[in-house]
Amino acid sequence: MFDPHLWRRQFPILERKVHGKPLVYLDNAATTQKPLAVLDAERYYFEHFNANIHRGVHALSQEASEAFEGAREKVRAFLGAAHVEEIIFTRGATEAINLVAQTWGRTHLEAGDEILISAMEHHANIVPWQMLCEMTGARLKVIPMDERGVLLMDQVDHLLTARTRLVGITLVSNALGTVNPVVEIIRKAHAAGARVLVDGAQAVAHVAVDMVALGCDFFVFSGHKLYGPTGIGVLYGKKDLLTAMPPYQGGGDMILQVTFEKTTYNQIPYKFEAGTPHISGAIGLGAAIDFVRSVGLENIAAHEDRLLQEATERAQRVNGLRIIGTAPGKASIFSFVLEGIHPHDIGTILDSEGVAIRSGHHCAMPVMDYFHLPATARASFALYNTLEEVESLFQAIERVQKLFLN
Ligand code: PMP
Repeated sequence: MFDPHLWRRQFPILERKVHGKPLVYLDNAATTQKPLAVLDAERYYFEHFNANIHRGVHALSQEASEAFEGAREKVRAFLGAAHVEEIIFTRGATEAINLVAQTWGRTHLEAGDEILISAMEHHANIVPWQMLCEMTGARLKVIPMDERGVLLMDQVDHLLTARTRLVGITLVSNALGTVNPVVEIIRKAHAAGARVLVDGAQAVAHVAVDMVALGCDFFVFSGHKLYGPTGIGVLYGKKDLLTAMPPYQGGGDMILQVTFEKTTYNQIPYKFEAGTPHISGAIGLGAAIDFVRSVGLENIAAHEDRLLQEATERAQRVNGLRIIGTAPGKASIFSFVLEGIHPHDIGTILDSEGVAIRSGHHCAMPVMDYFHLPATARASFALYNTLEEVESLFQAIERVQKLFLN
């Protein structure tokens, strides 16, 4: 039986108080808290074998290199990728998408080509493609959604054309919680001759993925939304694509030989990892993956579903509360608005009660525009949240209403 109270002990930060109240941390879609296993792994690295990697012959450098490459292998296994060199460490999902846009994109797109994304993308999966369109003369097209936050899949067939080069799609929407039918989208895109980049930033902490089964060409995620450190993320790319792509940044580690006349590049994944990487971050991410696997993604997903169900039912009893994003089978993101109260005021008063949620556009302004809202309030659940915390959220919401509406 999954008991979040037991797992909470692994997260020291959850014991702290905010404004004299016990912290109720419900901003997990923005970033998750870190378990002791991750904190310990980073600290152990700094205490025992901190050194630069791949270069030194000395013991510390070799140990650091082994731990760094060991973390890469953990990511490979976690994603079900066929080859370890298909895993490139980046600063996060954002950098991974920019890498693909600036390397693969610049060499594969020309004027008149098309990029297809969805109506619920995070800005990180919109702006890099717009920048690429400006550089190449390509055009950005959008798969629309309905008011539940479900993509209009019947439109995909005519939106995909012979000019579509890439489809960029989020597996889980950070603003709505929708889990998109990426398998179907990948199948349709490939049939049309397009490549597919899946944004897994919100997905990997909730949904098991398998690159071989999924068949996507690129997949990105950030460590910090998976109970790992900030500043470390992953680009997965199919080996043949990555091998053919030009490098992203130039510098140390990404070269084989440098002369002033000509430089030859290293093989993948190093070709895309110029400069000293976030060594402790990668090691911390490896520890986060071990941690998530020890808890079990199926257990985490089932627990979060229970919390979401409780929140959804509890919301029926709150007058004037409207849930934004009601797709069937959605992930544990509970976005809402309260009639007559600005989401920022909700966030501020909830904070004074110790309840941390996010209020704003969630880096998905087009989603806010679609719903004619300036912002929403968003509670998002993780493995350590409890039913009691869901109740605390609603008590705080009722307090907001009392303050504003009486
Ligand atoms: N895509 C989605 C769906 C996200 O939720 C986020 C983070 N909010 C990102 C991309 C970007 O992730 P990061 O800021 O860690 O690069």
